[in-house]
Amino acid sequence: MRESWQLATQVIHAGREPNETGALVSPLCQSATFVFDSAEQGGARFAGEEAGYIYTRLGNPTTAELERKIAALEGSDSAAATASGMAAVSAALLANLQMGDHLVASNAVYGCTFALMNSQLAKFGIEVTLVNFCNLAEIEAAITSNTKVIFCETPVNPHLEVFDLDAIASIAKQHNLVSVVDNTFMTPLLQQPIKHGIDIVIHSATKYLNGHGDVIAGIVCASHEQMDVIKYEVLKDIGAVISPHDAWLILRGLKTLDVRVSRHCDNAEKVAQFLEAHTKVSKVYYPGLRSHSGNEYMGRQMKRAGGVIAFELDADLQDSIAFINHLELFSIAVSLGDAESLIQHPASMTHSPYSEEQRARAGITDNLLRISVGLEAVEDIIAALDEALTAL
Ligand code: PLP
Repeated sequence: MRESWQLATQVIHAGREPNETGALVSPLCQSATFVFDSAEQGGARFAGEEAGYIYTRLGNPTTAELERKIAALEGSDSAAATASGMAAVSAALLANLQMGDHLVASNAVYGCTFALMNSQLAKFGIEVTLVNFCNLAEIEAAITSNTKVIFCETPVNPHLEVFDLDAIASIAKQHNLVSVVDNTFMTPLLQQPIKHGIDIVIHSATKYLNGHGDVIAGIVCASHEQMDVIKYEVLKDIGAVISPHDAWLILRGLKTLDVRVSRHCDNAEKVAQFLEAHTKVSKVYYPGLRSHSGNEYMGRQMKRAGGVIAFELDADLQDSIAFINHLELFSIAVSLGDAESLIQHPASMTHSPYSEEQRARAGITDNLLRISVGLEAVEDIIAALDEALTAL
């Protein structure tokens, strides 16, 4: 791979190695274990004296190609592919936290990330403080002598507020903390947190990276030093590694990442403008709109605003639910980054692990809806929304 290659070229070619069959598409290595030439060789591999595969939970050629490709795209030393996005979040946090430690995170994150921090980690005596990451003074004020990690998504689920990655990386360095950013909504094509000084980037590869709605997977990108713990201690022992078949499907999906992300952004920009102009929509959250607080980061931190839009209807809970049920073309489903346009209701779906009070603090109202704008013709997407809005 040439250093000078653009990301659109890298999504196709980065991480590939010649294979002995000459196949254009890297063969899928669907094997749980690997045979040693001799007992001595097996011992040498376990001792780390000889390179080579041992057992797929510790490494696999198909998985390794995916890991090389994502590491190249994110600009990290290395990457580890995981069984899900949540496995990636868990591995990054468990590698850097232990009993008595403290974590500072943004007060709106994906619902299961919130539950992981507040329920699972809490069981092991790890404390979390959630603050508004738009206010850097709040982050600073939350840091204590036992804080080890600072975590956020940007744009954040579901309001798409954008946080300043340069400032977050600088706070982390100043206090000797490990910074972790969930880059799922952006993909490395739109935002590369490591280039802003962030230590660890995680993805739900279930979303845009795979892009076809047929895989649950995740990725953690980090330095070699971090990866020694994330991959060869935490993931090895927890076992939340990716299946080689899923890694192979993501490698296939990645080849079209650049064209897919461009189309998602083109469509979402038009849909956001349409929604903003509609009288039955009271508020649209999309960083590509000038009215959104995240718009100032366009260009300098994120290339484009992505394919996810949140909006509030001028309606109560009952009418908001009726709108979802009435909407044609969109599937009612909680994911994003698929070819199909999707709609979901954060308060009762993705963010249901939040209590009513926590939802109120995070601004997740009953009339807030989130859509993942798909790859269909944008005229059809807008016509479907228009029709359901008119019926409200
Ligand atoms: N991070 C974000 C921003 C998400 O939206 C999700 C899932 O929706 C996850 C992490 C978890 O990913 P997965 O469902 O692959 O475990």
